Amino acid sequence: MSIALVIPDRKLDQLQQKLQQQLPDVLIEIWPDIADPAVVEMAVVWRQPAGCLVNMPNLKALQSFGAGVDNILADATLPDLPLARIVDPMLTQSMLQYLQGVVQHYQLRLDEFSAQQRKQHWKPRSPRKIQRLCILGLGELGQAAACHFLQLGFVVDGWSASLKTLPGIQCFAGDEQFFAAVSQADVVICLLPLTPQTENLLNQQRLSQLKSGAILVNVARGAIVDDLALLQSLDSGQLAAACLDVFRVEPLPSEHPFWQHPAILMTPHISAVTNADTAVAQIAENYRRSQAGLPLLNLVCQQRGY
Ligand code: NAP
Repeated sequence: MSIALVIPDRKLDQLQQKLQQQLPDVLIEIWPDIADPAVVEMAVVWRQPAGCLVNMPNLKALQSFGAGVDNILADATLPDLPLARIVDPMLTQSMLQYLQGVVQHYQLRLDEFSAQQRKQHWKPRSPRKIQRLCILGLGELGQAAACHFLQLGFVVDGWSASLKTLPGIQCFAGDEQFFAAVSQADVVICLLPLTPQTENLLNQQRLSQLKSGAILVNVARGAIVDDLALLQSLDSGQLAAACLDVFRVEPLPSEHPFWQHPAILMTPHISAVTNADTAVAQIAENYRRSQAGLPLLNLVCQQRGY
């Protein structure tokens, strides 16, 4: 019986130790140092190299080390097994803190004042009017964000694949209601999963449906936004600014125009990271469940891609 941690380019000693404390009788190994692939019953995966699971014939379950699973499902050789993801209240809290900070940054015009400072311009202005927000994606993070901003006194609209009923929030669903969802928002926050349906979803045509002068915040996945269309929308003034935490290629290549664009605020994919303790507890619980033949917690629907 063993668990393989297949998370390349990351120090995994602490995760291994913590998981070992929770599951003292189980061998926890760090890929690629797997003594006997035939005894691996669960793989904890994140950006796993394609093909690395095919020689583990007795795998029963897959566990994502993060909330999103697009990087895992991209592996065409992924075994057809239940896949669970991490759902972490601490990750949600850090996302809410980040989003609130970003909205306040723009409310206070810190973007404009920082540009003025570089030019030694002294020009006081009153705060930007940000009253209405639209959240794209009303899952774990999207619903939490919608409720959080509602409590802070914003008018909140939300958009998802299937229609939701959330007290105080005007909900929209599907392509046909995208315009109604976004067209009045001062800030649009993307919290969609990356799937074949959402790749390049925020293209020129959809970005043009945002209110003139709106601000886009993408904390989901870079490939949901068409980079060129975003640059064009910012250059034309259709969008006032964009805050990006995620990118099509990470780290963002040095020649990418986002780095230098005056209307783009960038952070290096830090809005919300998986908390090791929460992850360990969920991985251990899902291992026990898979051994007992019980359904995993936080199962992903692989057909939908999230
Ligand atoms: P989730 O619980 O799976 O929710 C996804 C939401 O998106 C659902 O409301 C779903 O609608 C909606 N959706 C999916 N496809 C859609 C489509 N084609 N059109 C309209 N709505 C669609 O996901 P989550 O836990 O909230 O996380 C969202 C994403 O955030 C993750 O997938 C991940 O990529 C990203 N993330 C980023 C960070 C970071 O550090 N930047 C951290 C964590 C997560 P239904 O409810 O109708 O199915």
